[in-house]
Amino acid sequence: MLQIHPIPAFNDNYFWLLQPDALQPVAYIIDPGAAEPVYTALKSHQLTLAGILITHHHHDHIDGAAELGQAFKVPIYGPPSAKIPQITDYLVDGDDLTLGPLNARIITLPGHTRDHIGYFIQPSQHQPSLFGGDTLFGAGCGRLFDGTAEQLFQSLQRIARLPDATLIYCAHEYTLDNIRFALHIEPDNTNLLTRQAVALHKRQLQLPTIPNSLDLEKQTNPFLRCHLPNIRQRVEQLSQQTLLTELQVFTQLRRLKDEF
Ligand SMILES: [Zn+2]
Repeated sequence: MLQIHPIPAFNDNYFWLLQPDALQPVAYIIDPGAAEPVYTALKSHQLTLAGILITHHHHDHIDGAAELGQAFKVPIYGPPSAKIPQITDYLVDGDDLTLGPLNARIITLPGHTRDHIGYFIQPSQHQPSLFGGDTLFGAGCGRLFDGTAEQLFQSLQRIARLPDATLIYCAHEYTLDNIRFALHIEPDNTNLLTRQAVALHKRQLQLPTIPNSLDLEKQTNPFLRCHLPNIRQRVEQLSQQTLLTELQVFTQLRRLKDEF
């Protein structure tokens, strides 16, 4: 059975170590922003590296890739992007990537950056899972760097169409901070209040709040709830605008979070 190990790194990053079969000592690393924590994790789990998966060009996601690729003589997969010269094997939307016994479907997810992709797996004995980089976070979403609000909105809509049971493996521990903003938008959302209590407890135990199901995100993440009248009204009130479309609600919400 599949095993997924979090590797906490820097202040709040997670590199995800994906072991497709618990009986085989082989793993893939997603978004290694540094090599050292990956060596340590491989050693402690007694694994060797079979490949490196990149979601986008930011340094905290790629800076360990070249060294690890050389050390283990393994491919570095990722989007065709001039900003990621380390990549040896390009992946585009709809590609299937074989990871031992697993298949990962590539989904392009522009918005946070233009070159962003995600890796979606649907193993037989594990919940479907998305390695979505900096697109959808726990109770929040990525900032806009070189992508547009419309791209990010469409990418989140695309994630929202995955099965509700999909576990979202994002690349940062931002959940509690995002929940504070989400409660500013929806103070009466009881699912959100429950989620805050659960997340606080996990952080007190120094456990990751990640992953969570897409279903929970739909109940608590304002960036997936822009179609709801209460969110629209609150965003209109805070941005002093009226008659916003769903995309405009999303765009204002992203701006409000930047300023929060
Ligand atoms: Zn990023």
